[in-house]
Amino acid sequence: MQVILIGPPGAGKGTQAGALQERLRVPHISSGDLLRNAVKRKTETGLQAKQYMDRGELVPDDIVVRVIEERVRQDDCRDGFIVDGFPRNVSQAEVLTPMLASLGKMVDHVVSFAVPREEIIKRLSGRRTCRNCGAMYHIIFDPPVNSGLCNKCNGELYQRDDDQEDTIAARLDVYQRETAPLLEYYRARGLLREVNGIGSREQIFERILGALALTP
Ligand code: AMP
Repeated sequence: MQVILIGPPGAGKGTQAGALQERLRVPHISSGDLLRNAVKRKTETGLQAKQYMDRGELVPDDIVVRVIEERVRQDDCRDGFIVDGFPRNVSQAEVLTPMLASLGKMVDHVVSFAVPREEIIKRLSGRRTCRNCGAMYHIIFDPPVNSGLCNKCNGELYQRDDDQEDTIAARLDVYQRETAPLLEYYRARGLLREVNGIGSREQIFERILGALALTP
C-alpha cells in the first residue's frame, strides 16, 4: 500500500508516519529527512538543497524528485511505503503518478492533517530534534527525561534552523501557496482522507486507521 501524508509543517506527519510504518510494515520515507541527510553528508544534492531549506523555501522539484525516485526504487519499498513531505506541490504530484506506474504502483490514500496556524506555531517553536536519530520532542508538551538529551539514543537535541520563528512563518506561507492546492487535486481523484490533527498521538492514529479502513 502506498500512502501519502500531507499537512502543514508541525502537523504531526512524521510522528504518525512512524506509527503507521510499524502497523503496515512498510518504510516511512520523509523527503525532509532525506534532504537533511544529504546536507549533513555534504553531497552535491545536499549543497544544492541547503540554501532553500535554510530559508524555509521549497527545494527545486528536479532535486527532490531525484531523491525520492532513488528511495522508492529500493528493495524495501516493494510492498509499499508511507511518504511524508512529498509531493509538496501539484507539479511534484504529476511526476509521482508516472514514477509509481513505472514500478507497477499507484497512490492508494492521501491523508491530510488539519491543524490551525496558531497551534502549528506553538508546536514548531518548541520542537527539538535529536541530532543523532531524528527523534522529536517538545519543550513543554513532550519534554525528554534528561533536558537536552534524546530518550532513545542519548543524542544531543537541537532546534532545527527552519524551526526558528521567522522561518516557521515562511514555511507556513509556502504551505498555503504551494501545498494546500494538492488537497483539491487529490480530492478530485477520490484519494483524499481528511483527518483532524488536534488530539493525542493515539487519538490521531486511530482516526488515520479509520480513514484507511484499517482496524485498530
Ligand atoms: P520537512 O522536514 O518536510 O518540513 O522539510 C524540510 C525542508 O525540506 C522544507 O522546508 C523544504 O525546504 C525541503 N523539502 C522537503 N520536502 C520537499 C519537497 N517535496 N519539495 C521541495 N522541498 C522540500
